[in-house]
Amino acid sequence: MAELEQRGDRTPIPSAWEYATAPESREIVKLQERYGIFVGGEFVEPRSGEYYETLDPASEEPLAEIPQAGPEDVALAVESARGAFENGWSAARPAERAKYLFRIARILQERSREFAVLESLNGGKPIRESRDVDLPLAAAHFFYYAGWADKLEYAFPHRRPQPLGVAGQIIPWNFPLLMLAWKIAPALAGGNTVVLKPAETTPLSALLFCDVLRQAELPAGVVNIVTGDGATGAAIVKSDVDKIAFTGSTEVGKAIQRELAGTGKKLTLELGGKAANIIFDDAALDQAVEGIVNGIYFNQGHVCCAGSRLLVQESIYEPLIDKLKRRLTTLRVGDPLDKNTDVGAINSRQQLEKIEELVAAGKEEGAEIYQPPCRLPEKGYWFAPTVFTNVAQSYRIAQEEIFGPVLSVLTFRTPDEAVEKANNTPYGLSAGVWTEKGSRILWMAERLQAGVIWANTYNRFDPASPFGGYKESGFGREGGLHGLEPYLDFGGAEVSGG
Ligand code: NAP
Ligand code: MG
Repeated sequence: MAELEQRGDRTPIPSAWEYATAPESREIVKLQERYGIFVGGEFVEPRSGEYYETLDPASEEPLAEIPQAGPEDVALAVESARGAFENGWSAARPAERAKYLFRIARILQERSREFAVLESLNGGKPIRESRDVDLPLAAAHFFYYAGWADKLEYAFPHRRPQPLGVAGQIIPWNFPLLMLAWKIAPALAGGNTVVLKPAETTPLSALLFCDVLRQAELPAGVVNIVTGDGATGAAIVKSDVDKIAFTGSTEVGKAIQRELAGTGKKLTLELGGKAANIIFDDAALDQAVEGIVNGIYFNQGHVCCAGSRLLVQESIYEPLIDKLKRRLTTLRVGDPLDKNTDVGAINSRQQLEKIEELVAAGKEEGAEIYQPPCRLPEKGYWFAPTVFTNVAQSYRIAQEEIFGPVLSVLTFRTPDEAVEKANNTPYGLSAGVWTEKGSRILWMAERLQAGVIWANTYNRFDPASPFGGYKESGFGREGGLHGLEPYLDFGGAEVSGG
């Protein structure tokens, strides 16, 4: 209860405000006890006969039983996709393909609340984010590629774009539905069919998406969803697909690249990152603090392009860090389904252990840790928002992807030094630059080795804008016209005049 301060005979004014909880209802989500894999337009029992439990990471409560698909299941899914490709989808009128993509986009919008609740329930992300970011962006992605489906000849003039065939797609747990949209929308727009595997810990939104596909009356077999762990993913890589699109860890990405070498199968890899968010002394500091917070605490830091290394110009180090620490005390950590929550649950026990291990290494190596006072729930997987100062470039917390709500702060004096430090990582996915000078933004953008660079903002996404990295962050782009190209065959030769 808030303490009341008596002001003479006037109305008492609360002197300390407390949040009332504002939980989103779970009622809208109807879970099945046990799911099948989605093959040929229907849910079928896995031939493997194996299942595992998927959890709510905020309570460790089991939600449903999910098939652990084996190689035989994957083979059936690929066969179904191959059949759908050959018997209609690849030869369908492009406007017909666009029609289905538009339908899917509209249905996602109509059912967005249901999906948002499910996404938060199964993945631990705050409902505010699944509602305001994941769902609108997923729908926007389908709308965007629906628009290109019948304009490929214009998109790639003189190049005669043709579909590739069957795409095997493997996605991670940090943005389950959004990564599905990034994969499926361009594949279908290009006339391909799909076998997709969601991550082991977050299969439920992909399974609900199958219901959207049926509602949209997408022809059977055009999209097939198989669930399971890394072994299921490996079976897709080995199967008779024409292309693999993978988002996840650099380690698994490298293994897939080795596996596919010499097979002629196409490959795109969207891997990890260790982005620098760079604050110059002329930046608007209050806005920069918001950008830093959004950069690293959005989605509990489970973001490949997270601004996990903060590079601060020395002259503003103290005021900036003071503001940042003060801001952290206002972050609300807890129930992902509470509309007040800023930082939700860590996605899995395994990920929590990885974060804890790296944070312990940071302390051991000599960095100074700051965590705001916050009460973490007893059950479930949680980690308080964390800032490390006194970080040397060689520390593991400055080099390795933590994939959690943990920020490592470094300093610099000159723009050259900022560039050098920012690029001192095996990754090259994203970066942020905060300054009031446009010329400095362009100067930095030319020198930063990163696929995406945000200026005076962070973690902004748009389906029209290509996303992807270089170095150990992978290759290939998703989003925009660049994102269509990996799903098209141009017959090797350019038509003259192109
Ligand atoms: P991961 O193991 O690379 O998982 C990504 C996807 O690949 C999941 O569907 C995974 O299945 C599957 N997979 C695992 N082993 C495979 C194999 N040998 N062949 C084919 N597919 C395989 O990544 P993670 O375990 O989810 O997370 C580990 C680390 O990856 C994170 O800490 C983070 O550093 C990085 N990560 C990056 C991104 C990104 O957006 N770039 C996203 C997520 C994670 P399972 O779900 O069963 O593992
Ligand atoms: Mg894994």
